[in-house]
Amino acid sequence: VLKQILTESGKFRSGICEAPNGSSLLTLSPFDLVIVDTALATGSDTEKAVAAFVAAGKGLVVTHTALYSSQVPSYSPLGAAGGSEQPVGFLDVKLARSSHPILRGMPGGFRTPDSLPQGVFARREADVIATLELSGRAVPVLAVSPYGKGRVVAVALGHDASAMHEPQLRAIMARASEWAASGAVTVPPAREPALPSDRPLKGLLITGGHDHDAAFYSLFSGYSEIERLPVDTAASAYKNDLRGRYDVIIMYDFTRDLDETGKKNLVDFLQSGKGVVVLHHALLNFQSWNWWSEEVVGGRYRLRKEGASSASTVKDNQQIYANPARSHAVLARINPFHITDEAYKNLFMSPRIRPLLVTDNPTSDTNLAWIGPSDRYRVVAIQLGHGRSAFEHPAYRTLVRNAVMWAAGRTD
Ligand SMILES: [Zn+2]
Repeated sequence: VLKQILTESGKFRSGICEAPNGSSLLTLSPFDLVIVDTALATGSDTEKAVAAFVAAGKGLVVTHTALYSSQVPSYSPLGAAGGSEQPVGFLDVKLARSSHPILRGMPGGFRTPDSLPQGVFARREADVIATLELSGRAVPVLAVSPYGKGRVVAVALGHDASAMHEPQLRAIMARASEWAASGAVTVPPAREPALPSDRPLKGLLITGGHDHDAAFYSLFSGYSEIERLPVDTAASAYKNDLRGRYDVIIMYDFTRDLDETGKKNLVDFLQSGKGVVVLHHALLNFQSWNWWSEEVVGGRYRLRKEGASSASTVKDNQQIYANPARSHAVLARINPFHITDEAYKNLFMSPRIRPLLVTDNPTSDTNLAWIGPSDRYRVVAIQLGHGRSAFEHPAYRTLVRNAVMWAAGRTD
């Protein structure tokens, strides 16, 4: 978490040393900052090296974890009595010295779920800049002190990952690190969530009618570009005019038929320039709506024999070697990849589709992913995607993300 905070600040490149014993000043010399997040034995070579490092003008941050040790270095502005852990509770932190560079521009305080080591105290040379009230006593939780030519910060907060998730504490960790390393603070007071430069994308995810692993939804985690992605069923979603409400509809449902209202709303949505991504068993959708399979998707899993064409077949746990078939935004950063997934074969397939991914697996149709047959509609169909082996595959995740972005009109 500490490394993530440093990286997100954009100010640091960092490494982690999990076995610091035996470190020398030479080991530390390439760095501007050391964060001590463990016990350093008093008088050990490492403790002496850290002291010499800071004294020479570098920075040091001593964390909550380091304060649990009975051997907090003498140059830390905070120490602790040691002993058992306190239960986590809601603590009201007071940022007392708002003029200090680490706290400048931050609110006067914040409430956070955390726990402190027993008996935290400030050393004589320490400048305490944040405190909290515990049993009627002001306990120091953030303090700074000079050491030689260097700067030391001790942060008593940060007991677990939830505490370290609090935006105010993350800002303090990043700003304290920058201050210790350089004497100045440029990291903004509260981390603003990264917003995309253009309007956030609104998607609608359709599921239902076919069981699937819950891990499917993990495909859409971590998309900063998507502002809203509600989940609905075909039975209720298509009752409404969807133009203006969504940029893209992602189908992972199995819906045999659609009423006239539903058909009209889907037609209007596509004709207004919005996109559709059809995933895996959604290729079974709307079996008797020919316009849908012939003009929009360009493919359909045949549930039964149709004239001279036999029904489509399905086979799980196939070793599929997928190859990109053209250069396209949906294939950005996709190289040939191997995936264990369910294969569909003998689908109805329009001769006008534009293949994206192909395979020579004999239990599968050649086309694994394609662009729909009509230039008028932004439609991507992806045959892959039965279960976890697909949802967790980095190439499949990238493929679905690229498809959503392209269908929504965000890439060319
Ligand atoms: Zn399946």
